[in-house]
Amino acid sequence: MFINVLNSSILGKAKEKGLIDYRLVNIRDYTEDKHKKTDDTPFGGGAGMVMMPQPAFDSLRAVGAEGKKVIYMSPRGKMLSKELAEDISKEDEVFILCGHYEGIDQRIIDAFNMEEVSIGDYILTGGELPAMVLIDTVSRLIPGVLSSEESSYEESIYSGLLEADMYTKPREYEGLCVPEVLLNGNHKLIDLWRFEKSLRLTKERRPDLFRLYLDSDKAKNLSSEEKKILKSVLCED
Ligand code: SAH
Repeated sequence: MFINVLNSSILGKAKEKGLIDYRLVNIRDYTEDKHKKTDDTPFGGGAGMVMMPQPAFDSLRAVGAEGKKVIYMSPRGKMLSKELAEDISKEDEVFILCGHYEGIDQRIIDAFNMEEVSIGDYILTGGELPAMVLIDTVSRLIPGVLSSEESSYEESIYSGLLEADMYTKPREYEGLCVPEVLLNGNHKLIDLWRFEKSLRLTKERRPDLFRLYLDSDKAKNLSSEEKKILKSVLCED
């Protein structure tokens, strides 16, 4: 599941440049069970299967995870956010355990002092996709992975506001036109137009982010034109 995602596009280039690296470990390779079993029924009853301690302990020890930052992808975990991604991006090395079936034996989580991380309030069939989401968003934060470091901070969420609508060529497509302001080369006007769009979108779609933005230093240090725009957006209902 991992190879295609990690070897293509921006992540693939980052690996080629030596900015990120990874090692994939199949827990099943470490099982001592002659049928290669890695899971068993839960003590106390209940549905599904639980991943057993032995293959997980042995594989984690084999890769040197003891005493290091180990993350267990789990719907019970702390919600992945830009702040959490930033913290993780500062680590030199991170170990990620992907669960499967009903989950993993609690002793694995306790023994390796794992941090549980969730990618959202929904359940997936395994931790592989969540791990790839985590790897992708953390990798983008590593200097040099994106073509300019700035680009990450201009994006939705990172800038504190949702990103304004974007357009590319052609100017007209099936009678649908690009807003005139983006075509006139006046960058001051373009920035103000984008600012207004971002404010409107954030106020409408993410009132939680909008409130945070209003209290932020960014909102306190606006130019007089920007302040006017913010006022008019605040007055709209
Ligand atoms: N029984 C568990 C869910 C198991 S889902 C519970 O109720 O908490 C199987 C595996 O998929 C989990 O072990 C976990 O590694 C992964 N997973 C599922 N949903 C996830 C989510 N929202 N975030 C992170 N990992 C998730």
